[in-house]
Amino acid sequence: LGLTITVGEILVEIMATTVGAGFLSPQSFVGPFPSGAPAIFIDQVARFGGAAGIVAAVGADDFGTINVERLRADGVDVSAIATIQGRPTGSAFVRYRPDGARDFVFNITHSAAGEARMTEAARALVAKSGHVHVMGSAFAIPGIAAALVEAVATVKARGGSVSFDPNIRKELAQADEGRKLVDDVLAVTDLLLPSGDELLVAADAATEEAAVERLLDLGIGEIALKRGSAGSSHFSRQFGRVDCPAFSVEEVDPTGAGDCFGAAYLTSRRAGLAPARALLYANAAGARTVTRQGPMEGVSSREELDEFIAAAGREVG
Ligand code: ATP
Repeated sequence: LGLTITVGEILVEIMATTVGAGFLSPQSFVGPFPSGAPAIFIDQVARFGGAAGIVAAVGADDFGTINVERLRADGVDVSAIATIQGRPTGSAFVRYRPDGARDFVFNITHSAAGEARMTEAARALVAKSGHVHVMGSAFAIPGIAAALVEAVATVKARGGSVSFDPNIRKELAQADEGRKLVDDVLAVTDLLLPSGDELLVAADAATEEAAVERLLDLGIGEIALKRGSAGSSHFSRQFGRVDCPAFSVEEVDPTGAGDCFGAAYLTSRRAGLAPARALLYANAAGARTVTRQGPMEGVSSREELDEFIAAAGREVG
């Protein structure tokens, strides 16, 4: 199984301990926890047993160290994580609304995260990789977008593959420049990992069926659609539609579910598992993530997922 890489933001997350309170008065927080959607994703690839690396940047501070050491310990190649002097590691304060929605105060754009570039170390990592995972969130950070575009072009030119988790904000996709970035990535995407509305936004279609048809016509090999507590579905010309119900768990913290789902799905498919089996692993990874507080704390090894699936009495033939 070749090396899977991603390019994007590494940050720490500091979370409110009570639901409902805003940021307008002093209150309690827990953290820092290692975070950043690309970091969570690549950590889950490594924990699942895939070769993994990330192009990113952190500051010369403890927030950077906590991330780099976690990724290294979990088996991620950290050789292309640059340390930027004079910029702090990115951070996000998070608070939870009673309806489950989250509000963030981000310090990313002006943090070290925004300084991720195609350095010599990054090019060396990209040259070894057979798959690049693109996160829509990275496009919102100037600098990272350029590095991502270069990584995609290099990996594709070598016959490698691309997965794309759009995390599209509708406003970004509707702006001409944002739409062009999304369309450029869709044109080279082998595996699309949308959630909810993102499928419709990515395809600019009104229904799920129309969106799937349009995207598969575009040449996208397969789509793994995330449906939160309703599970997930696979769509491809080869296997048609495959549905997988969610595991029944108590949700403590939703952060990271989509990233862990995508990483487990991708790594399963790259290891040659059929879509039904990949969805089962991916749903299990997403479900375990939401039961843990902290964005990267719910990442699972393949053995942990096997135990979780067996304990739930779920198997595929
Ligand atoms: P996020 O942006 O919060 O990381 P997402 O919107 O990309 O997530 P979701 O659909 O919320 O992705 O979650 C991914 C997968 O994780 C789902 O398809 C499902 O299998 C699992 N999952 C998420 N939430 C739950 C839940 N409450 N109960 C069981 N499984 C869940």
